[in-house]
Order: sequence, then structure tokens, then C-alpha cells
Amino acid sequence: MAASEAAKDGRGIRRQAGELLVGGKRAGHRGAERRTLIGELLRRRAGNGREGPALEEGEEPSLREPVGMAGERVDRSVGNRPGAANAERVELHRRDLASRGTLSRRCSQLRRFGTAVSNEIISIEEARRRVLATCRPLEPEEIALEHALGRALAEDVVAAGDVPPYAGSAMDGFAILGGPAGRRLAIVGESRAGHPTDAAVEEGLAIRISTGAAVPTGATAVIRVEDTSEADGHVSVHATTEPGQNLRAAGEDVQAGTTVLQSGTDLGAAELGVAAGAGVATLPCRRRPRVAVLATGDELVAPGQPLRYGQLHDSNALTLGALASRAGAEVVVRGSVADRPAETATALEDALTAADVVVVSGGVSVGPHDHVKPALEELGVAESFWRVALQPGKPTWFGTRGDRLVFGLPGNPVSAMVTFLLFAQPALRALQGLAPLPIREPAALAHPARRQRDREQALRVRLEPSRDGLPRALTTGSQLSHILTSMLGADALAFVPPGHGELGAGEAIETERIR
Ligand code: AMP
Ligand code: MG
Repeated sequence: MAASEAAKDGRGIRRQAGELLVGGKRAGHRGAERRTLIGELLRRRAGNGREGPALEEGEEPSLREPVGMAGERVDRSVGNRPGAANAERVELHRRDLASRGTLSRRCSQLRRFGTAVSNEIISIEEARRRVLATCRPLEPEEIALEHALGRALAEDVVAAGDVPPYAGSAMDGFAILGGPAGRRLAIVGESRAGHPTDAAVEEGLAIRISTGAAVPTGATAVIRVEDTSEADGHVSVHATTEPGQNLRAAGEDVQAGTTVLQSGTDLGAAELGVAAGAGVATLPCRRRPRVAVLATGDELVAPGQPLRYGQLHDSNALTLGALASRAGAEVVVRGSVADRPAETATALEDALTAADVVVVSGGVSVGPHDHVKPALEELGVAESFWRVALQPGKPTWFGTRGDRLVFGLPGNPVSAMVTFLLFAQPALRALQGLAPLPIREPAALAHPARRQRDREQALRVRLEPSRDGLPRALTTGSQLSHILTSMLGADALAFVPPGHGELGAGEAIETERIR
């Protein structure tokens, strides 16, 4: 879909490369010089492993326009779409203005008069409590076993019959009456897997048997073939066999009528095998939550597309979509949205129609180009919280409209991932009837970590087993919220409680696995 078509259908979502709407043109000699200097300064700051107090959205030295209460704003971005011919631009601009309608006017009014900015900052725990309080498990649907991997079971599964269903042999050999060595027995039949025999074992007789084959009537043991020799239709028994030897009783694994899987189980390979053994071909599974992922930002360019000065590749749509899929959700919308009120509102409305859970990244602060909060307010999504005492991820928004959940996550790539993991992932699990929260495990902090006075920090760490006690939590690099590469190799988040001073190396810290 080309940019013009995106505008034509009035949708706010850009799904394809090359459709980016760009703000101003800033590349130029002075810009390039400034870029080099700033780049060097930032590289130095990001690269030196242990930073000073970690910075966060709104706290980093701002390279952006000052944030303030915006009045009506002239948006020139349409005319700057790459590739738009002059006439097309004019037409786009006209359509864009026409398509804004009441939504954007009311959004602008909200901004002009100031949206109600709540000052409440809540803890991670409280934020999770509020999120989970809104989650009801989705309806069940019957899913064929071969498609049920990763799904959440909605009801207990009771075994219809015994597993194994019949007494069978654990060895290749002969079904006999258990007893002493030195006997010579007449071979009167064969029981193979899938081909039981009608012949019966009695004193002086043996029946050839394979592993897994049904034990013939009368037999009390199986002697393995290695302990026998055969000639003239007879088998000589060279070892003593106890009654029951090399036999598997019916129902040894599962007895008919027992519950083999419980509702709320995450279905893995073993669960599917056990379900098949229990006699079912389909399982009642919770419907997968439908998730819409929207990345906001005029600076965003689709992966693989060339960048102009001031642009960057959209990584959040991918990371958040991937985390949603991994949490069992079906990603039904994935796209980026320009920093414009009308497009933001349209895209959010579409997302609310298509999905149970809307995850939107960026644009959730109160700057003049942050349109997510006013748009959500306009669309009737009731705010539950906005701001968590968390680093990274303070400006996290959550709200609901009916049974729809909306997460407004900060745009910084690590903040987006961390807040998804801490708040959206538990919600997706709860919607599937799964245990929502990961088990917190203690670890020993490998490096000292400075506490933050009023915020809990979620450090990206690798957990290393230790012989003499708790696993060691080693940070994976810079903890700044835009350093996505330090999510590489991180297998847990480690939580530094707020307070004064430092947590020393070796101190116990709580962790949550993230993979
Ligand atoms: P915002 O929350 O919109 O103010 O964005 C904060 C920072 O995150 C800015 O530096 C953005 O460029 C960056 N950012 C926002 N969205 C994305 C995205 N989808 N992919 C990568 N970076 C992003
Ligand atoms: Mg933004």
C-alpha cells in the first residue's frame, strides 16, 4: 500500500515500508556537525558500562522540542511525505485536513485546555494488581491436538481409559509362567505389537512376544530373548523369572477416570502426548487474545528502508509483536502511526475494534507531539494509571474500554519491552487463564547497583549458576532505556528496590525470568 492509499482510506496505520510521514527537513551542514558531536557525547555516555544515575524518558538530556501545553498546531508533515509529487501532496493535505473531523478538533481542545494530568505514580505491584483486576479468561474453543501447542487449557482433562490400555511386554522374548531356569517349553504362538494372539500360556508352553505386545492369557512373566535358546519349535529357558518380570500392567501410567491435565495448563509437547493417551483428539483451549501493536512516531521507518536524517528504524512493532506472540496472543494488527491527532485516533479506534488488547508505543507523554493520551481519552478508554515508579518505564499508561485493554508504553525500545513484560504479558496470560505472574527467584547481584530514591529499577541481567548459593545476576551492559543491545543475552530482570545508597555486590535481589 502506498502512502497516498494510506491517506485515501483514511486509516491511520502505516503497515509498509516507504510510507513514513516525516516532520521537518533538518539535514544540512550545521546539522551534520551537531550530529557528530552529540553522537560522540552520547556514545561515550552509553559505552562506559556503569553509568551514573540511570536516566529515563523525560530525564535524559533532551534533544527534543520543549514540552509544554500545546494549543492548536499547524501540522505540515503531509506535505513532506517522501515520494509525494507536488499535486499529490496538495491533494493529500486537503484530504488529511478533511478527514480530521471532530475527533482531532476535540483532541486539540483537550490539549489546549490541558488534559487532566494525574500525578499519581504507583508501584509495579499496584500497577499489576490494577491490570490483572480487569482480566477475565477469554471463552474456550475446541482445538485439534496438532494445533494446540502453546495454547492454554480451559478445562481439566480426564482419562477415558487406562494408559497403557492393556498389560504388555517390556522386552522381546517369550511369555511364560514365571519360574526356575532349565525348563524347555513348546512355542505355541506369537504376540506382536498390534497383533495379539488367542493362544494361552500354561505349564510347558511359551508364546513368542515383542516389546509392547499384549501379554497372552495365562502368562505371568516374560523372559528376554537373550536368556533363551531356540531349537525344533521349543525354547530353553536359561534364567529364573519372577512373576511379573518384564511385564507392564494396564493403567500403570494413568488409570481410567483420573485427571491428567488441569485447567490453566500451558500445553507443551508432553501435555499433548498425555492428552492423546487420555483418549481425546481435541482440547478446550482459551481463545488466544487478539493483540494490536501500534508504534507511534514521525521518526519511524520500516525495517530495511533507507533512513533520512532524523529517522530511525521502528523496532518496537517487532519486539512488542514478538513478545505478544510468545505470550500466546494472536497479533492481528502491527503498524506504525504518525504523530498526528487524527491518525492516532483513527488507528487506535481501528485497533480497539480488531483486538482484545491494544499495545501502543511512544507518544504517551504530554509533549506537543504526543497524541496517544488525548486520543484514548477521546475514544472513551478509561485511564487506570499513568506512571509507574519504575525505571525504565515510568510513563506507562493503562486503561480499559469495556473488555478491551489498552497499554500505552513508552517509546524507548527497552522501556517498551520491559513494561510489556511487566504489565502486558501478565494480562495476556491471565486472559488465557494461565498463572499471570512469573515466579520471582532470588539471585546475588554480581555488581553494585545504585538505588534510585523513588523508583524501582528493573535491570537487564544474565543469571549464572553458582555452586555455593544463589545464581549470580550479571548486568548485560548499559542500562539506559534506548540501549536495546543490552536486552540481548538478558534472561531475567533484576529488581533494585528504591532507596538511598547502593546495593552491594553479592546482595540478594529478586529476579523474574524473561525468556
Ligand atoms: P516517545 O515515547 O514517543 O517520546 O519516544 C521516546 C524515544 O523512543 C524516542 O527517542 C523515539 O525515537 C524512540 N522510539 C519511539 N518509538 C520507537 C520505535 N517504534 N522503535 C524504536 N524507537 C522508538
Ligand atoms: Mg514519539
